[in-house]
Amino acid sequence: MGIPLRQVIGVGAYVVRQHLAGRKRYPLVLMLEPLFQCNLACAGCGKIDYPDPILAKRLSVEDALAAVDECGAPVVVLAGGEPLLHKELPEIVRGAVARKKFVIVCTNALLLQKKIDQYQPGPFFTWSIHLDGDQEGHDKSVCQPGVYDRAVAALKLAKAKGFRVTINSTFFNDADPARVAAFFDEVTALGVDGITVSPGYAYERAPDQTHFLNRTATKELFRAIFRRGDRARKWAFNQSGLFLDFLAGNETYRCTPWGNPTRNVFGWQRPCYLLGEGYAKSFRELMEETDWDAYGVGNYEKCADCMVHSGFEATAVADSVRRPWKALAVSLRGVRTEGPMAPDIPLDRQRPAEFVFERGVAEKLSEMRPDKVGEKAM
Ligand code: SF4
Repeated sequence: MGIPLRQVIGVGAYVVRQHLAGRKRYPLVLMLEPLFQCNLACAGCGKIDYPDPILAKRLSVEDALAAVDECGAPVVVLAGGEPLLHKELPEIVRGAVARKKFVIVCTNALLLQKKIDQYQPGPFFTWSIHLDGDQEGHDKSVCQPGVYDRAVAALKLAKAKGFRVTINSTFFNDADPARVAAFFDEVTALGVDGITVSPGYAYERAPDQTHFLNRTATKELFRAIFRRGDRARKWAFNQSGLFLDFLAGNETYRCTPWGNPTRNVFGWQRPCYLLGEGYAKSFRELMEETDWDAYGVGNYEKCADCMVHSGFEATAVADSVRRPWKALAVSLRGVRTEGPMAPDIPLDRQRPAEFVFERGVAEKLSEMRPDKVGEKAM
């Protein structure tokens, strides 16, 4: 298990409190994107396709910490873009840690060796280093040679300095289960504290549209990977057993998009971390005024192949609290990798995709025009 006991107890107690309070919707992980700019341009990433004025925008320390307070989730993930490009990230991290949030910085690690001394190791802080596979696989995924070696060097340095270090790996339809298994062995030998896995989301703005996994292929891939993960290998996944069981096709889950609410330079993103189809001005507005039933597998075409952890981990955690015996069974016997899969959600009634990206960007650019700001102030 790659999740520290303190975090399991803290998050578990929070979830139980929400259930006892009868809250239907509550956040589990705040996804904070303090900028969209990145120092890589990965083929499968649809997060950074913005004009320069938007890429230059930064969320201020005040706005970032206000989002932490407003949301109240026990876990805060700093993502992006590349968060280490944000000069005030250390202050944001210190502020969130001071609030006793479990803070995770997702980074490609290219700047980690240079900036690591701006951060302090501790039980509330984790580096999550992006590694999509072995040297050849990762460098291909991020479209730049040498990135794997730099990320691994940074990972070793962070471990040597006493930080908790996990990796996050996204897989596409060219993933080879045997190589993925060997890669997990490799990072386990490096001493990583946890592994986060996910199939890639089919971002409409990603440069490469040919390598996304469909639902069946995702389940088959993860079964093939987990089949190789016998107990002797001791891969420490940083995710709940029931989420891994879902990836292997053993659960019929609907997503919980409000479980990982996303705050970025535009506001609170609707409906989730993966899909940006509008923005709310406040967390309360996001929770209360989003038409949640318009999204999710079976409801919306853009959701059809989504099995991403930011959408479904909160579902698995809530299920673990409701039916702990099921979670215990998975942790004792491991993820089932043989036999029939759970039925999937029918897609025949989903509404067609809407393509709103260009309009949204034009609106944001217009809001940013100095003459527009002047008009508003008048
Ligand atoms: S299925 Fe859910 S989490 Fe995935 S993109 Fe759709 S709304 Fe977001």
